[in-house]
Amino acid sequence: MHHLITFLSHSSDETEALTFSLALLVCWNIERMAGLAVNYTKLKHAFLNAQFILTGLIPQFVTGYFFVKAIRWTTMHNFGILHHLPYVQHPVILFLMSFVFLDLGEYIYHVIMHKVDRLWMFHAVHHCDHIVDVSTTLREHPCENLIRNLFTIIWIFFSGALFWTVFLRQLIQIFSNLLAHMNYRLPEKLDSIIGLVFITPNLHQVHHHYQRPNTDSNYGDVLSIWDRLFGTFNRVPYKDIVFGVDTYMDQQANSKYLSLLKLPFGKIHKRKLPVQLTENEIN
Ligand SMILES: [Zn+2]
Ligand SMILES: [Zn+2]
Repeated sequence: MHHLITFLSHSSDETEALTFSLALLVCWNIERMAGLAVNYTKLKHAFLNAQFILTGLIPQFVTGYFFVKAIRWTTMHNFGILHHLPYVQHPVILFLMSFVFLDLGEYIYHVIMHKVDRLWMFHAVHHCDHIVDVSTTLREHPCENLIRNLFTIIWIFFSGALFWTVFLRQLIQIFSNLLAHMNYRLPEKLDSIIGLVFITPNLHQVHHHYQRPNTDSNYGDVLSIWDRLFGTFNRVPYKDIVFGVDTYMDQQANSKYLSLLKLPFGKIHKRKLPVQLTENEIN
């Protein structure tokens, strides 16, 4: 354990990038071998989404510096909630507590991105993919990348999480996010067990449904417990799921990199009300 902590405390961005590439490769091949890549040009779709890696590098680079600074400062000054909780001296308990706390941060961040109209438009770039597979994980507007990283820095700052716990969590998060976006479904029985605690592909596919209230459910990042706790947990049969966003259904525009980069800066398209709750029913 001590060696692991030492290793993780000295690991760098390159280790994270390497893990991401390897995980992506593994998930990509599982999808390919499962023969699930049907009805679309998988390569073309992946190429479009992969372009977001390039634009994502800039915010990644800028915020990376502050990310490390924030963790160093909180560690040096024993600042943050985690430093004041009982029993966190043991590394395993410290890691679990940090993990849960950081995962809650991801949940809150995700809800905010859905509820604030302008922020939603940045997040909609991820959602307007009409096919959800591992490459969708890459599809994030660079400004969302920046907003996400800034939010994470603030959250980490107040949590007081140590570098090695944040780093280990990031690695788990990479795998979890790629798995959640896989063009694959777990058998329903197995999903009902894993989904008690974790976000599965079956659950995240509901989040990618084109209409509310399904889009506004299953916000969880790695853990599904927050959705259960805050009443946003939802299950929908696969046959009823259609990927995309009701206000951005133009597949042509959603397949053009430049249009996607410009999308959040346009006129705000008010999202349609949840299907069960039409305007007539409210008035
Ligand atoms: Zn979302
Ligand atoms: Zn997603």
